[in-house]
Formats: sequence, C-alpha cells, structure tokens
Amino acid sequence: MHDLLIRNALILDGSGLAPTQGDLGISDGKILEIGRARQQYKETLDAGGLALMPGIIDNHTHYDAQLTWDPLASPSPALGVTTAIIGNCGFTIAPCRPADRELILKNLTQVEGMSLDVLMAGTHWGFESVPEFFAMLERQGVAINVAGFVGHSSVRTYVMGEEAPKRAATAAEVARMRDLVLEGVRAGAVGFATSTSPNHNGHGGIPMPSRLADDAELRALVGCLKEAGRGVFMLTKGGQTKVEFLEELAAACGRPVVVAALLHNNTSPRSVFDDLEKIAAANARGRRLFGAVSCCPLTMDFTLRSPYVFEGLTAWKPALSLAGESYKAQLREPGFRKRIGEEIRNPAAGVRLFNGEWEKVYVENVRRPEHRKWQQCTVAELARATGADPLDAMLDLALAEDLDTEFSALLLNSDEAAVGAMLGHPNSLVSLSDAGAHLTLFNDAGFGLHLLGHWVREKKVLTLPEAVRKLTSDPARVFGIPGRGKLEPGFAADLCLFDPSTVGRGPKKRVQDLPAGGTRLLMPPTGVRGVWVNGLQVADERGARPELSGSKRLPGRILREFLS
Ligand SMILES: [Zn+2]
Repeated sequence: MHDLLIRNALILDGSGLAPTQGDLGISDGKILEIGRARQQYKETLDAGGLALMPGIIDNHTHYDAQLTWDPLASPSPALGVTTAIIGNCGFTIAPCRPADRELILKNLTQVEGMSLDVLMAGTHWGFESVPEFFAMLERQGVAINVAGFVGHSSVRTYVMGEEAPKRAATAAEVARMRDLVLEGVRAGAVGFATSTSPNHNGHGGIPMPSRLADDAELRALVGCLKEAGRGVFMLTKGGQTKVEFLEELAAACGRPVVVAALLHNNTSPRSVFDDLEKIAAANARGRRLFGAVSCCPLTMDFTLRSPYVFEGLTAWKPALSLAGESYKAQLREPGFRKRIGEEIRNPAAGVRLFNGEWEKVYVENVRRPEHRKWQQCTVAELARATGADPLDAMLDLALAEDLDTEFSALLLNSDEAAVGAMLGHPNSLVSLSDAGAHLTLFNDAGFGLHLLGHWVREKKVLTLPEAVRKLTSDPARVFGIPGRGKLEPGFAADLCLFDPSTVGRGPKKRVQDLPAGGTRLLMPPTGVRGVWVNGLQVADERGARPELSGSKRLPGRILREFLS
C-alpha cells in the first residue's frame, strides 16, 4: 500500500504544456504515478475542481537567520512554497566567528527589517563555517527544502573583521576569501551571492561589506565557481554595475548569473528593459544570464524611525548613524531637507527606490487624534492642504508624533503594462520575494499566489501553465535543482493543490510574533487547499499545519547536489 492518492485534479506538471485531468500517487516522499492510478493507497483525497502543481521554488529569500529559530520558514509553506533559496544578495550568517556575531547581525538589521534585539534574541549559533551551518539546519530540521548561497558580505567580514565595510581588500585577503567561497560551494552551497546596491546598508548606515569590493575581488571570487565546476553567481546590482561587466564574469566562469533586482521605475522606465536586452544579447553569445524580476508592486510600510525608503539617498547619509534627539534635530534641519529634496527631484540619479512620487506615499496610521483627518491621505494631498513642500509636510507630521506616524509607499514595479512585459520576457526569472527580509516593510512571500491570481486570472497576461512553469521548472533549471520543479514519476512529491478561481493573497495585516516582541507584515493565502513537501503535508486550507511546530519530523531537506 502506497501513501496518498490525489484524485481527479487538473494537473499542471510544470513544463508549461496544457494541463491534463487525472490522479497523482505518492509513495515514500516521491511521485509514484500520474494519470489513471493503478496502485493501491492508504489515503485518497478527491481534488475535483482543483489544480495540482509542483511546489513553488522561491529563489530569492533571506531566511538565513529566521530558520535558526523558526524551522517552519513561516509564512512560506502556507503560500505554496516548498523550496527556498537563502543567502541572496550575499547576506548570510555563515561563516561567522563567535566574536563577530553581533557584527554580522548588525549588517542584517537594516536589510532584513528586523531590529538588532529581534536578531540577537532569535538567532541560534551552533556553527562557524558554511558547512557547519548547513549541518546545523539539517540536524534541527526544516519544513521546506533549503538551498543556500555562500554570502560575500559574511565571507568579507570573516576575513577583514571591522574593516570589511570600510575598504578594498588586499590580495592576501582576497585569497583567503577564495578559500572560504570554495569551501562553501564544495560543501553544497548553490552558488555565490553578492550585492553592489546602495540601498543595502547595515546598522547605523554602514554599507554592506560586499559594496566595498573592487572588480578584481569580484572576478576572483566568482572565479571560484569555475574552479569548483558548479554554482550560480547571483548579484543585486546598483546602477554603477553594468550588465557588460556581469557578462564578462559569466564568460570567465562559465556559470549561470542571476542579475537582480530588475524593478520597474517610472522615472527611468526604459532601464530594466535595457538590462533585459543586454542580457538577451549576452545569451545569444552563449552566456547564461537571467534577469530577476518581481510580479509584485514594491510597497513599503515605514515610519521615520527606520525609513528604508530614503536610506539609499546620498543626502540621507548624515542621518543614518544618528538616533534619538540628534536624529530628530537632523530631520528638522533646513539644509538637510533641501539636499534631500534636490536629490529626489534630480532625474539623472538613475534607478533608485524612491523617486519623488509623493502621490503614491500614503499616511497609514497617525498617533494623535488631531491628525486623524490625514489618515489614508497621500503626502501630496497633505502638502497641498497645508501649503507645504511634500518632504516638509511628511517630516513635520512625523516629528509632531515622535516619529510614530506610519506611512505606506508604492515605490517600484507599479506600472502594470511594464511589469507584464517583464514577466513575459524570455530571459526574466520570476523572483525577488525577499521572504524573511524587510519584515516590517512588506511581505511578498506569497508572490507565487499573486502571479497565479493577479497575472493569470485577473490580468490574463500569462496562461496558467506558463505561470506555473515560471514558479517551478524554470527556477529548478536555472539553479540546477534535480528531481524537483516538475510533476513526473520519480520526482519529489513537492506539491501545491489550489483553486484557480480564488487563488491569490489576502489583505495585509501586522502581527507581533517575532522574538523579543518584534512585528512583521503578513498577507495570508487564498485558495490554497494543500501543500506537501517530500510527500508530507505541511499546509491545508487553514494555513500551516499546527502539528508541525515542535515536530521532530520536518520534511524539508538541505539541498546540496545540483546539476551543472
Ligand atoms: Zn535580497
């Protein structure tokens, strides 16, 4: 007797081909048969009217720290995700010497959207090297499959300590970094990840260490992938990093390169398409480059206590290291405001997070009763009503409320015609959920459900089989993940059962469930009926199965073997 038969489902096998109606049998964590069942099963589930697809492979997450206190990788399993790639942008917690733990977590606070208190209280340290980190996750167990990058910023901190976010590396330091990258990749890392983005700052505004790397350092470290004969290079690029340079790296190492983060920007509407065309041209020359795009509008909820939205601006720098009264004094300072305003209005600055679209910044929640009239107004409306400049209006409102005012900004990727074209581009990779990061700002862990609900059902930009392919076999192919991403006999039983007429994600809500009382945003699933990882059900229509918490038998695997 085999384990489970899912009967009479619309089967989307991940190939992108037209679906078929049939049964799928599971035995011992794997798919045994598809079509008309011939074997006997202990359990049967009638899936009439529902669709069955391979579990979603979320290729851009930041669960590195979270997995040490939350092996369930909440909220991803309930959102149809069965495999997550961690360590994107090079933000990892291994390798890390015991003495550098606070330093490493300080790097993560800003980009992960978690306070240092949350990270210090939550992170369990039972490792120093990358192989030890993977082994610890394996011992502890994980609810979904996990593959991890070797992260440039951690490698740099391991070798250079406090100097890592301050200067270029010497040749000797680069040689020691190479040893660490090779060690990680040979121990089963999925590749090497880095960031050159000016939006990526650590605690107190220090740049992420990888941003200090020169071209020679990048060439040397990416070269490790050629030496190891395996791995993907992933990079979140700032405007100064050109696709031409990434093509050069791809040619030298012969490995796939994932170029992030291609988000559409209304003030520079062609730039992502220019990048995608350069990627297409490089691939025509035999390279394997992929442009990481997002199917979600980039919205961030923020207070002026931690305004990630502005922290990438050069003129914001003086405020980054300040706190308390001196920070508030800086926000009041007219010269500071003038320079911020000028930089925001300067269209030559290229791609960045916020581009002066004040009509897309909303006042979400106010603290003082006399400000309630501004709730749900845009900052543009607030400015018109008060006769002030929008930046002044926003800062003055926040300062009058001890910086507790909550704002919500619709930043990038909100032009639906443009995003539709990016999703349909042959060289794009649906990505960038950032699950596990930016927790107080937004939560796109349900990106896959949004693709199926919004872009397939509502907008009809993609067909259902195409969208499923983009969430499953496409990332499996890019990252060389064997035996997953398709429904085929012998493949892992990583599955998502859903109702195509209701699949999507619900309204956002703020919950307080992080260590040390930290809060985060969630967007719960709609239309998901069941999620299985290696044959074990991890979620049903009510969300993640409660019996998993505290369970010693979590079904996820640490993935270490990849196809070249
Ligand atoms: Zn990232």
